Amino acid sequence: MATRSRRCCRGGICFLRWTTESIGGVGMRCPCGCGDTIELLVAAETKPRWDVTIDEVRRPTLHPSVWRQKGCRSHFWIRRGRVHWCW
Ligand SMILES: [Zn+2]
Repeated sequence: MATRSRRCCRGGICFLRWTTESIGGVGMRCPCGCGDTIELLVAAETKPRWDVTIDEVRRPTLHPSVWRQKGCRSHFWIRRGRVHWCW
């Protein structure tokens, strides 16, 4: 296992392997309350992958939406650190 540095941001969303230049992944507690941890890879060579942008007050925006294929099957967007549900 690679060593991870965690840096929590707003809304319970944590960035994994955070450096000032790049973010290797994003981890968060599933916002539906099921208790699962979601980890998303944002490294360029992985699939599926997500794009993460951080605004000036460190609020993350994820693209595309997160759609869990197992467990609670939550489907939501993260925009500016907030969860927007897709119903
Ligand atoms: Zn869930």
